[in-house]
Amino acid sequence: MAKTKYLKSITIPVSTFENAMKQFDQAASRLHIDKGLLEFIKYPRRSTIVKLPVKMDDGSYQMYTGIRVQHSTVRGPAKGGIRYHPDVSLDEVQALAAWMTWKCAVVNIPFGGGKGGIICDPSKMSEGEVERLTRRYTAGFYDTFGPETDIPAPDVNTNEKTMAWIMDTYSMNAQHTVTSVVTGKPIVMGGSRGRREATGRGVVIAIREALKHLKIEPNKATAAVQGFGNVGSVAALLLFEMGVKVTHICDVFGGIYNPKGIDINALIEYMDKNKRVIGFPGAEPFNSKNILFAKVDIVVPAALENQITGKNAGRVKAKILAEGANGPVTPEADPILKKKKVFVIPDILCNAGGVTVSYFEWVQDRMGYFWSEDEVNTRLERIMVDAFGDVLNVALTNKVDLRMAAFMVAIQRVVEVVQLRGIYA
Ligand code: NAD
Repeated sequence: MAKTKYLKSITIPVSTFENAMKQFDQAASRLHIDKGLLEFIKYPRRSTIVKLPVKMDDGSYQMYTGIRVQHSTVRGPAKGGIRYHPDVSLDEVQALAAWMTWKCAVVNIPFGGGKGGIICDPSKMSEGEVERLTRRYTAGFYDTFGPETDIPAPDVNTNEKTMAWIMDTYSMNAQHTVTSVVTGKPIVMGGSRGRREATGRGVVIAIREALKHLKIEPNKATAAVQGFGNVGSVAALLLFEMGVKVTHICDVFGGIYNPKGIDINALIEYMDKNKRVIGFPGAEPFNSKNILFAKVDIVVPAALENQITGKNAGRVKAKILAEGANGPVTPEADPILKKKKVFVIPDILCNAGGVTVSYFEWVQDRMGYFWSEDEVNTRLERIMVDAFGDVLNVALTNKVDLRMAAFMVAIQRVVEVVQLRGIYA
Protein backbone atom coordinates (compact mmCIF):
# COMPACT_ATOMS: atom_id res chain seq x y z
CA MET A 1 0.00 0.00 0.00
CA ALA A 2 1.50 3.38 -0.96
CA LYS A 3 1.94 5.94 1.82
CA THR A 4 1.15 9.63 1.68
CA LYS A 5 2.32 12.35 4.08
CA TYR A 6 -0.47 14.14 5.92
CA LEU A 7 0.14 17.24 8.10
CA LYS A 8 3.86 16.47 7.91
CA SER A 9 3.91 14.13 10.92
CA ILE A 10 1.11 11.67 10.22
CA THR A 11 1.35 9.08 7.47
CA ILE A 12 -1.94 7.74 6.14
CA PRO A 13 -2.14 4.86 3.71
CA VAL A 14 -3.54 5.35 0.19
CA SER A 15 -5.42 2.21 -0.76
CA THR A 16 -5.10 1.51 -4.49
CA PHE A 17 -7.88 -1.06 -4.13
CA GLU A 18 -10.19 1.53 -2.56
CA ASN A 19 -9.42 3.84 -5.48
CA ALA A 20 -10.39 1.09 -7.92
CA MET A 21 -13.60 0.40 -5.95
CA LYS A 22 -14.48 4.13 -5.95
CA GLN A 23 -14.16 4.22 -9.74
CA PHE A 24 -16.45 1.19 -9.95
CA ASP A 25 -19.04 2.70 -7.59
CA GLN A 26 -19.17 5.99 -9.45
CA ALA A 27 -19.91 4.26 -12.75
CA ALA A 28 -22.24 1.65 -11.21
CA SER A 29 -24.38 4.38 -9.65
CA ARG A 30 -25.27 5.54 -13.19
CA LEU A 31 -26.45 2.09 -14.29
CA HIS A 32 -29.73 0.44 -13.34
CA ILE A 33 -28.30 -2.85 -12.14
CA ASP A 34 -29.36 -5.02 -9.20
CA LYS A 35 -27.24 -4.13 -6.13
CA GLY A 36 -26.52 -7.79 -5.37
CA LEU A 37 -25.20 -8.39 -8.88
CA LEU A 38 -22.98 -5.33 -8.59
CA GLU A 39 -21.57 -6.67 -5.30
CA PHE A 40 -20.89 -9.99 -7.02
CA ILE A 41 -18.88 -8.49 -9.87
CA LYS A 42 -17.16 -5.77 -7.83
CA TYR A 43 -15.04 -7.86 -5.43
CA PRO A 44 -12.33 -10.44 -6.24
CA ARG A 45 -13.69 -13.99 -6.45
CA ARG A 46 -10.51 -15.50 -5.02
CA SER A 47 -7.39 -14.04 -3.37
CA THR A 48 -4.66 -16.49 -2.38
CA ILE A 49 -1.43 -15.97 -0.46
CA VAL A 50 1.30 -18.60 -0.54
CA LYS A 51 4.55 -18.88 1.39
CA LEU A 52 7.55 -19.61 -0.81
CA PRO A 53 10.74 -21.08 0.63
CA VAL A 54 13.81 -20.54 -1.53
CA LYS A 55 17.31 -21.91 -1.12
CA MET A 56 19.64 -18.97 -1.68
CA ASP A 57 23.04 -19.15 -3.40
CA ASP A 58 24.88 -19.03 -0.04
CA GLY A 59 23.02 -22.13 1.16
CA SER A 60 20.62 -20.25 3.49
CA TYR A 61 16.83 -20.42 3.21
CA GLN A 62 14.61 -17.41 2.72
CA MET A 63 10.82 -17.21 2.90
CA TYR A 64 8.92 -15.07 0.38
CA THR A 65 5.24 -14.25 0.08
CA GLY A 66 3.38 -14.74 -3.20
CA ILE A 67 -0.09 -13.49 -4.09
CA ARG A 68 -2.52 -14.33 -6.87
CA VAL A 69 -5.93 -12.70 -7.18
CA GLN A 70 -8.63 -13.83 -9.58
CA HIS A 71 -10.94 -10.85 -9.64
CA SER A 72 -13.37 -12.27 -12.20
CA THR A 73 -13.83 -15.33 -14.37
CA VAL A 74 -17.29 -14.35 -15.63
CA ARG A 75 -16.26 -13.62 -19.24
CA GLY A 76 -13.42 -16.17 -19.42
CA PRO A 77 -10.23 -17.21 -17.64
CA ALA A 78 -8.60 -14.72 -15.27
CA LYS A 79 -5.86 -12.79 -17.09
CA GLY A 80 -3.16 -10.59 -15.67
CA GLY A 81 0.50 -10.02 -14.99
CA ILE A 82 2.85 -10.91 -12.16
CA ARG A 83 4.83 -8.19 -10.38
CA TYR A 84 8.05 -8.67 -8.36
CA HIS A 85 8.54 -5.71 -6.02
CA PRO A 86 9.17 -5.03 -2.30
CA ASP A 87 5.94 -2.94 -2.16
CA VAL A 88 3.65 -5.65 -3.55
CA SER A 89 0.61 -6.02 -1.29
CA LEU A 90 -2.76 -7.75 -1.40
CA ASP A 91 -4.36 -4.29 -1.65
CA GLU A 92 -2.39 -3.40 -4.77
CA VAL A 93 -2.78 -6.81 -6.43
CA GLN A 94 -6.55 -6.75 -5.85
CA ALA A 95 -6.79 -3.31 -7.48
CA LEU A 96 -4.69 -4.37 -10.46
CA ALA A 97 -6.76 -7.56 -10.84
CA ALA A 98 -10.01 -5.55 -10.83
CA TRP A 99 -8.67 -3.17 -13.49
CA MET A 100 -7.83 -6.22 -15.64
CA THR A 101 -11.46 -7.36 -15.51
CA TRP A 102 -12.69 -3.97 -16.71
CA LYS A 103 -9.88 -3.61 -19.25
CA CYS A 104 -10.63 -6.98 -20.90
CA ALA A 105 -14.32 -6.08 -21.02
CA VAL A 106 -13.64 -2.64 -22.56
CA VAL A 107 -11.72 -4.21 -25.45
CA ASN A 108 -14.28 -7.03 -25.52
CA ILE A 109 -11.90 -9.97 -25.31
CA PRO A 110 -13.04 -13.22 -23.63
CA PHE A 111 -11.08 -12.92 -20.38
CA GLY A 112 -11.78 -12.05 -16.80
CA GLY A 113 -9.25 -10.27 -14.61
CA GLY A 114 -6.39 -11.48 -12.45
CA LYS A 115 -3.06 -10.29 -11.10
CA GLY A 116 -0.21 -11.67 -9.06
CA GLY A 117 2.91 -10.65 -7.27
CA ILE A 118 5.77 -11.66 -5.05
CA ILE A 119 7.08 -9.44 -2.28
CA CYS A 120 10.77 -9.41 -3.18
CA ASP A 121 13.52 -7.22 -4.54
CA PRO A 122 14.85 -9.01 -7.61
CA SER A 123 17.63 -6.42 -8.01
CA LYS A 124 19.19 -7.90 -4.84
CA MET A 125 18.84 -11.53 -5.96
CA SER A 126 20.87 -13.65 -8.39
CA GLU A 127 19.22 -14.96 -11.56
CA GLY A 128 19.23 -18.46 -10.08
CA GLU A 129 17.44 -17.26 -6.94
CA VAL A 130 14.80 -15.44 -9.01
CA GLU A 131 14.34 -18.58 -11.14
CA ARG A 132 13.86 -20.83 -8.09
CA LEU A 133 11.43 -18.31 -6.57
CA THR A 134 9.47 -18.17 -9.85
CA ARG A 135 9.27 -21.95 -10.13
CA ARG A 136 8.15 -22.33 -6.50
CA TYR A 137 5.49 -19.63 -7.04
CA THR A 138 4.26 -21.46 -10.16
CA ALA A 139 4.15 -24.78 -8.28
CA GLY A 140 2.23 -23.03 -5.47
CA PHE A 141 -0.40 -21.95 -7.97
CA TYR A 142 -0.42 -25.08 -10.14
CA ASP A 143 -4.07 -25.68 -9.24
CA THR A 144 -4.96 -22.07 -10.15
CA PHE A 145 -3.02 -21.41 -13.35
CA GLY A 146 -4.07 -22.92 -16.67
CA PRO A 147 -5.07 -21.89 -20.19
CA GLU A 148 -8.74 -22.26 -19.24
CA THR A 149 -8.54 -20.83 -15.73
CA ASP A 150 -5.88 -18.21 -15.03
CA ILE A 151 -3.19 -16.97 -17.43
CA PRO A 152 -0.27 -14.89 -16.07
CA ALA A 153 1.87 -12.41 -18.02
CA PRO A 154 4.80 -10.10 -17.25
CA ASP A 155 4.42 -6.95 -15.15
CA VAL A 156 6.88 -4.79 -13.20
CA ASN A 157 10.27 -6.60 -12.89
CA THR A 158 9.15 -9.74 -14.70
CA ASN A 159 9.83 -10.44 -18.36
CA GLU A 160 9.97 -13.02 -21.17
CA LYS A 161 12.47 -15.11 -19.25
CA THR A 162 10.20 -15.25 -16.18
CA MET A 163 7.34 -16.38 -18.42
CA ALA A 164 9.55 -19.11 -19.93
CA TRP A 165 10.24 -20.48 -16.40
CA ILE A 166 6.54 -20.39 -15.52
CA MET A 167 5.64 -22.18 -18.75
CA ASP A 168 8.29 -24.82 -18.16
CA THR A 169 7.37 -25.43 -14.50
CA TYR A 170 3.68 -25.70 -15.35
CA SER A 171 4.44 -28.01 -18.31
CA MET A 172 6.70 -30.30 -16.24
CA ASN A 173 3.88 -30.74 -13.72
CA ALA A 174 1.31 -31.27 -16.49
CA GLN A 175 3.69 -33.76 -18.19
CA HIS A 176 3.24 -32.05 -21.56
CA THR A 177 4.09 -28.67 -23.07
CA VAL A 178 1.42 -26.06 -22.34
CA THR A 179 2.42 -22.84 -24.11
CA SER A 180 -0.93 -21.08 -23.59
CA VAL A 181 -0.60 -21.01 -19.78
CA VAL A 182 1.28 -17.69 -19.95
CA THR A 183 1.58 -14.82 -22.41
CA GLY A 184 4.51 -12.50 -23.00
CA LYS A 185 6.76 -15.48 -23.79
CA PRO A 186 9.77 -15.35 -26.12
CA ILE A 187 8.59 -15.65 -29.75
CA VAL A 188 10.61 -18.87 -30.29
CA MET A 189 8.52 -20.68 -27.65
CA GLY A 190 5.01 -19.55 -28.53
CA GLY A 191 5.14 -15.80 -27.97
CA SER A 192 3.37 -13.44 -30.35
CA ARG A 193 4.97 -11.08 -32.79
CA GLY A 194 4.11 -7.50 -31.86
CA ARG A 195 3.49 -8.25 -28.14
CA ARG A 196 6.48 -6.23 -26.91
CA GLU A 197 5.28 -3.08 -28.69
CA ALA A 198 1.54 -3.73 -28.21
CA THR A 199 0.84 -1.57 -25.14
CA GLY A 200 2.67 1.50 -26.48
CA ARG A 201 1.10 0.94 -29.91
CA GLY A 202 -2.38 0.80 -28.35
CA VAL A 203 -1.67 3.98 -26.34
CA VAL A 204 -0.78 5.82 -29.55
CA ILE A 205 -3.83 4.51 -31.43
CA ALA A 206 -5.98 5.87 -28.57
CA ILE A 207 -4.14 9.23 -28.68
CA ARG A 208 -4.58 9.40 -32.47
CA GLU A 209 -8.36 8.83 -32.07
CA ALA A 210 -8.50 11.49 -29.34
CA LEU A 211 -6.64 13.99 -31.55
CA LYS A 212 -9.13 13.26 -34.33
CA HIS A 213 -12.06 13.83 -31.95
CA LEU A 214 -10.56 17.08 -30.65
CA LYS A 215 -9.64 18.15 -34.19
CA ILE A 216 -5.93 18.56 -33.43
CA GLU A 217 -3.43 17.78 -36.19
CA PRO A 218 -0.74 15.36 -34.91
CA ASN A 219 2.03 17.39 -36.58
CA LYS A 220 0.93 20.48 -34.66
CA ALA A 221 0.90 18.68 -31.28
CA THR A 222 3.58 18.36 -28.59
CA ALA A 223 3.96 15.61 -25.98
CA ALA A 224 5.65 14.70 -22.70
CA VAL A 225 6.22 11.08 -21.65
CA GLN A 226 6.89 9.92 -18.07
CA GLY A 227 8.77 6.62 -18.12
CA PHE A 228 10.94 5.29 -20.94
CA GLY A 229 10.50 1.55 -20.39
CA ASN A 230 8.41 -0.83 -22.47
CA VAL A 231 5.29 1.35 -22.67
CA GLY A 232 6.86 4.83 -22.61
CA SER A 233 9.61 4.20 -25.17
CA VAL A 234 7.28 2.58 -27.74
CA ALA A 235 4.61 5.27 -27.21
CA ALA A 236 7.23 8.02 -27.63
CA LEU A 237 8.61 6.40 -30.80
CA LEU A 238 5.18 5.96 -32.42
CA LEU A 239 4.14 9.52 -31.48
CA PHE A 240 7.37 10.75 -33.07
CA GLU A 241 6.67 8.67 -36.20
CA MET A 242 3.12 10.15 -36.32
CA GLY A 243 4.64 13.65 -36.47
CA VAL A 244 4.02 14.66 -32.85
CA LYS A 245 6.86 16.69 -31.34
CA VAL A 246 7.93 14.84 -28.17
CA THR A 247 9.58 17.61 -26.14
CA HIS A 248 9.89 16.08 -22.62
CA ILE A 249 10.88 12.57 -21.52
CA CYS A 250 11.95 11.18 -18.18
CA ASP A 251 12.76 7.92 -16.45
CA VAL A 252 13.49 7.10 -12.81
CA PHE A 253 16.93 8.75 -13.05
CA GLY A 254 15.86 12.14 -14.45
CA GLY A 255 14.34 14.09 -17.32
CA ILE A 256 15.33 15.66 -20.64
CA TYR A 257 13.80 18.44 -22.74
CA ASN A 258 14.12 19.81 -26.25
CA PRO A 259 11.60 22.44 -27.42
CA LYS A 260 12.28 21.42 -31.05
CA GLY A 261 11.40 17.78 -30.32
CA ILE A 262 13.56 14.86 -29.22
CA ASP A 263 14.81 12.39 -31.86
CA ILE A 264 13.34 9.24 -30.34
CA ASN A 265 15.27 6.78 -32.55
CA ALA A 266 18.52 8.38 -31.40
CA LEU A 267 17.32 8.36 -27.78
CA ILE A 268 16.49 4.64 -27.94
CA GLU A 269 19.99 3.97 -29.25
CA TYR A 270 21.46 6.10 -26.43
CA MET A 271 19.29 4.32 -23.87
CA ASP A 272 20.45 0.87 -25.05
CA LYS A 273 24.02 1.86 -24.16
CA ASN A 274 23.48 4.10 -21.12
CA LYS A 275 20.32 2.60 -19.51
CA ARG A 276 18.97 6.09 -18.73
CA VAL A 277 17.78 9.13 -20.68
CA ILE A 278 19.82 11.79 -18.87
CA GLY A 279 23.00 12.80 -20.65
CA PHE A 280 21.37 12.35 -24.09
CA PRO A 281 23.21 14.87 -26.28
CA GLY A 282 20.09 15.91 -28.26
CA ALA A 283 18.32 17.51 -25.27
CA GLU A 284 18.81 19.53 -22.08
CA PRO A 285 18.25 18.24 -18.53
CA PHE A 286 14.77 18.78 -17.11
CA ASN A 287 13.39 18.29 -13.58
CA SER A 288 11.40 15.09 -13.98
CA LYS A 289 9.11 15.99 -11.06
CA ASN A 290 7.43 18.52 -13.36
CA ILE A 291 6.99 16.32 -16.40
CA LEU A 292 3.26 15.68 -16.01
CA PHE A 293 2.68 19.44 -15.70
CA ALA A 294 4.68 20.42 -18.79
CA LYS A 295 3.16 22.87 -21.26
CA VAL A 296 2.38 20.32 -23.97
CA ASP A 297 -0.75 19.08 -25.75
CA ILE A 298 -0.38 15.43 -24.76
CA VAL A 299 0.99 14.00 -21.54
CA VAL A 300 1.60 10.25 -21.19
CA PRO A 301 2.22 8.89 -17.68
CA ALA A 302 3.87 5.53 -18.42
CA ALA A 303 5.62 4.71 -15.15
CA LEU A 304 3.77 4.45 -11.85
CA GLU A 305 0.44 4.58 -10.01
CA ASN A 306 -0.98 7.56 -8.08
CA GLN A 307 1.01 10.26 -9.91
CA ILE A 308 -1.75 12.84 -10.44
CA THR A 309 -3.72 13.41 -7.26
CA GLY A 310 -6.22 15.88 -5.83
CA LYS A 311 -3.24 17.97 -4.74
CA ASN A 312 -1.47 18.43 -8.08
CA ALA A 313 -4.16 17.86 -10.76
CA GLY A 314 -4.69 21.62 -11.00
CA ARG A 315 -1.16 21.91 -12.44
CA VAL A 316 -1.86 19.75 -15.52
CA LYS A 317 -1.70 21.88 -18.66
CA ALA A 318 -2.10 19.23 -21.37
CA LYS A 319 -5.26 18.85 -23.48
CA ILE A 320 -4.93 15.04 -23.56
CA LEU A 321 -3.78 12.83 -20.70
CA ALA A 322 -3.20 9.30 -21.98
CA GLU A 323 -2.79 6.75 -19.17
CA GLY A 324 -0.07 4.37 -20.34
CA ALA A 325 0.51 3.29 -16.73
CA ASN A 326 -2.13 1.62 -14.57
CA GLY A 327 -3.81 3.94 -12.07
CA PRO A 328 -1.68 7.09 -12.56
CA VAL A 329 -4.64 9.37 -11.76
CA THR A 330 -6.46 9.09 -8.41
CA PRO A 331 -10.27 9.47 -8.10
CA GLU A 332 -9.74 12.84 -6.32
CA ALA A 333 -7.90 14.17 -9.38
CA ASP A 334 -10.56 13.20 -11.94
CA PRO A 335 -13.12 15.96 -11.18
CA ILE A 336 -10.34 18.57 -11.21
CA LEU A 337 -9.12 17.38 -14.61
CA LYS A 338 -12.69 17.31 -15.89
CA LYS A 339 -13.23 20.91 -14.80
CA LYS A 340 -10.04 21.88 -16.60
CA LYS A 341 -11.39 20.07 -19.71
CA VAL A 342 -8.42 17.71 -19.86
CA PHE A 343 -9.36 14.80 -22.12
CA VAL A 344 -8.30 11.79 -20.00
CA ILE A 345 -7.97 8.48 -21.84
CA PRO A 346 -8.33 6.04 -18.94
CA ASP A 347 -5.90 3.16 -18.38
CA ILE A 348 -8.52 0.46 -18.88
CA LEU A 349 -8.89 1.71 -22.45
CA CYS A 350 -5.57 3.44 -23.16
CA ASN A 351 -3.13 0.65 -22.22
CA ALA A 352 -5.39 -2.27 -23.22
CA GLY A 353 -3.30 -2.98 -26.34
CA GLY A 354 -0.99 -5.15 -24.20
CA VAL A 355 -3.64 -7.55 -23.00
CA THR A 356 -5.24 -7.54 -26.46
CA VAL A 357 -2.07 -8.94 -28.04
CA SER A 358 -1.70 -11.29 -25.05
CA TYR A 359 -5.12 -12.58 -26.08
CA PHE A 360 -3.79 -13.01 -29.64
CA GLU A 361 -0.83 -14.94 -28.20
CA TRP A 362 -3.17 -17.28 -26.30
CA VAL A 363 -5.28 -17.78 -29.47
CA GLN A 364 -2.18 -18.51 -31.60
CA ASP A 365 -0.81 -20.96 -28.98
CA ARG A 366 -4.08 -22.83 -28.89
CA MET A 367 -4.23 -23.00 -32.71
CA GLY A 368 -0.54 -23.83 -32.98
CA TYR A 369 -0.45 -21.39 -35.89
CA PHE A 370 1.29 -18.03 -35.75
CA TRP A 371 0.47 -14.72 -37.39
CA SER A 372 2.75 -12.17 -39.05
CA GLU A 373 3.44 -8.90 -37.24
CA ASP A 374 1.23 -7.09 -39.76
CA GLU A 375 -1.70 -9.39 -39.00
CA VAL A 376 -1.24 -8.81 -35.26
CA ASN A 377 -1.05 -5.03 -35.68
CA THR A 378 -4.06 -4.88 -38.01
CA ARG A 379 -6.21 -6.83 -35.54
CA LEU A 380 -4.94 -4.68 -32.65
CA GLU A 381 -5.79 -1.52 -34.57
CA ARG A 382 -9.36 -2.71 -35.17
CA ILE A 383 -9.95 -3.67 -31.53
CA MET A 384 -8.50 -0.41 -30.15
CA VAL A 385 -10.45 1.78 -32.60
CA ASP A 386 -13.72 -0.08 -31.85
CA ALA A 387 -13.15 0.16 -28.08
CA PHE A 388 -12.32 3.87 -28.28
CA GLY A 389 -15.48 4.44 -30.36
CA ASP A 390 -17.70 2.46 -27.94
CA VAL A 391 -16.37 4.39 -24.93
CA LEU A 392 -16.54 7.79 -26.63
CA ASN A 393 -20.16 7.12 -27.67
CA VAL A 394 -21.20 6.32 -24.11
CA ALA A 395 -19.30 9.39 -22.84
CA LEU A 396 -21.02 11.72 -25.31
CA THR A 397 -24.49 10.19 -24.82
CA ASN A 398 -24.30 10.32 -21.02
CA LYS A 399 -22.23 13.53 -20.81
CA VAL A 400 -19.58 11.81 -18.68
CA ASP A 401 -15.81 11.61 -18.92
CA LEU A 402 -14.09 8.71 -20.66
CA ARG A 403 -13.16 6.91 -17.40
CA MET A 404 -16.75 6.84 -16.26
CA ALA A 405 -17.84 5.76 -19.75
CA ALA A 406 -15.21 3.00 -19.93
CA PHE A 407 -16.33 1.61 -16.56
CA MET A 408 -19.97 1.82 -17.66
CA VAL A 409 -19.21 -0.13 -20.85
CA ALA A 410 -17.17 -2.72 -18.91
CA ILE A 411 -19.66 -3.23 -16.07
CA GLN A 412 -22.53 -3.65 -18.52
CA ARG A 413 -20.57 -6.24 -20.53
CA VAL A 414 -19.74 -8.29 -17.42
CA VAL A 415 -23.29 -8.04 -16.03
CA GLU A 416 -24.79 -9.11 -19.36
CA VAL A 417 -22.77 -12.34 -19.24
CA VAL A 418 -23.62 -12.97 -15.56
CA GLN A 419 -27.30 -12.65 -16.40
CA LEU A 420 -27.04 -14.99 -19.37
CA ARG A 421 -25.00 -17.58 -17.45
CA GLY A 422 -27.21 -17.30 -14.38
CA ILE A 423 -26.12 -18.07 -10.85
CA TYR A 424 -25.24 -21.76 -10.35
CA ALA A 425 -27.31 -23.42 -7.58
P1 NAD B 1 9.09 -0.71 -17.37
O1 NAD B 1 9.69 -1.23 -16.13
O2 NAD B 1 9.53 -1.25 -18.69
O3 NAD B 1 9.31 0.89 -17.45
C1 NAD B 1 9.00 1.75 -16.40
C2 NAD B 1 9.64 3.10 -16.68
O4 NAD B 1 9.23 4.01 -15.66
C3 NAD B 1 11.17 3.07 -16.63
O5 NAD B 1 11.69 3.89 -17.65
C4 NAD B 1 11.49 3.66 -15.28
O6 NAD B 1 12.77 4.29 -15.24
C5 NAD B 1 10.38 4.68 -15.16
N1 NAD B 1 10.13 5.13 -13.79
C6 NAD B 1 10.04 4.37 -12.67
N2 NAD B 1 9.87 5.16 -11.61
C7 NAD B 1 9.83 6.42 -12.06
C8 NAD B 1 9.69 7.69 -11.46
N3 NAD B 1 9.57 7.80 -10.15
N4 NAD B 1 9.70 8.80 -12.25
C9 NAD B 1 9.84 8.69 -13.57
N5 NAD B 1 9.99 7.52 -14.20
C10 NAD B 1 9.99 6.42 -13.46
O7 NAD B 1 7.51 -0.86 -17.18
P2 NAD B 1 6.39 -0.84 -18.31
O8 NAD B 1 6.10 -2.24 -18.72
O9 NAD B 1 6.71 0.18 -19.33
O10 NAD B 1 5.13 -0.38 -17.43
C11 NAD B 1 4.90 0.98 -17.11
C12 NAD B 1 3.47 1.11 -16.61
O11 NAD B 1 2.57 0.65 -17.62
C13 NAD B 1 3.13 0.29 -15.36
O12 NAD B 1 2.14 1.02 -14.63
C14 NAD B 1 2.48 -0.97 -15.92
O13 NAD B 1 1.61 -1.59 -15.00
C15 NAD B 1 1.72 -0.35 -17.08
N6 NAD B 1 1.35 -1.31 -18.13
C16 NAD B 1 2.31 -2.04 -18.76
C17 NAD B 1 1.93 -2.92 -19.76
C18 NAD B 1 2.94 -3.71 -20.55
O14 NAD B 1 2.55 -4.43 -21.48
N7 NAD B 1 4.24 -3.57 -20.28
C19 NAD B 1 0.57 -3.10 -20.08
C20 NAD B 1 -0.38 -2.31 -19.41
C21 NAD B 1 0.04 -1.43 -18.43
